Amino acid sequence: MKVKVISILEDNYMYLIIEETTREAIAVDAAVSKRLLEIIRREDILLKAILTTHHHWDHARDNEELAKLYPGLEVYGGDERVGALTHQVTHEEELKFGSINIRCLLTPGHTVGHVCYFVWENDSLNAPAAFTGDTLFVGGCGRLLECTAEQLYKSLMEVLGGLPKETKIFCGHEYTTQNLKFASKVEPENEFVKEKLIWAKLREDEDLPTVPSTLAEEFLYNPFLRIFCSKYIWISQPPFQQRHVGQKLAEEKLPSSVSQRRETVFSYLALSLQLSCCKYGDEHRS
Ligand SMILES: [Zn+2]
Repeated sequence: MKVKVISILEDNYMYLIIEETTREAIAVDAAVSKRLLEIIRREDILLKAILTTHHHWDHARDNEELAKLYPGLEVYGGDERVGALTHQVTHEEELKFGSINIRCLLTPGHTVGHVCYFVWENDSLNAPAAFTGDTLFVGGCGRLLECTAEQLYKSLMEVLGGLPKETKIFCGHEYTTQNLKFASKVEPENEFVKEKLIWAKLREDEDLPTVPSTLAEEFLYNPFLRIFCSKYIWISQPPFQQRHVGQKLAEEKLPSSVSQRRETVFSYLALSLQLSCCKYGDEHRS
């Protein structure tokens, strides 16, 4: 299988998963039908289905239009707010398109009905792929809009974190540079963060995507997957103030139970990320 990365809108990614023998394709987050149709024509492929990660317009806007153009097109998602939805999926439901297998993973956090899709091909030596929408980004995670930090933590650590480490991560937005700037505040001494940030800036300068990463890499630099590893925890408390930058979360201030500790740290991180997004002037961040 081949995954085509398609940059759309300001910083979104739409994807096409192509089965190379049959030339059948599945689109992920088909928000811009015009771009998708151009590629379908150019590549001479047949669109069979759409996988939608969540209902936001920049991920699902053109589902209806595509459903009209392709009668019988299957549209999968985990939320009835997804346009033209034909199949509301359940957690761990598996779908099959020729030799391509898809496991639907419910990952509440950014939205309640958010779904990530784990995709692999029979008899292939290629690593599997995960389409993580606005749940897991390269170096970061999506904003908490409809759920608690605890729900997002479980989606990231228990659902996505349990996938094979070689899984390629294809996320919903190009936020890598700003995510890694945030990560460098959380862990100023983490060499993997420093290296990845230098690399991401070069990619940005050349207008090239930073996807995919791998899950193994994310565990090295993504602060949201490193709750237990982070030596220094950077906290900013609302309202965002410069004097809080660099403040460390003292060990003794954390609750004593392990599960409460990790949730507290994660909540601080999730809150800090949102405040740092505002600081970067990206109010439209999805
Ligand atoms: Zn979104």
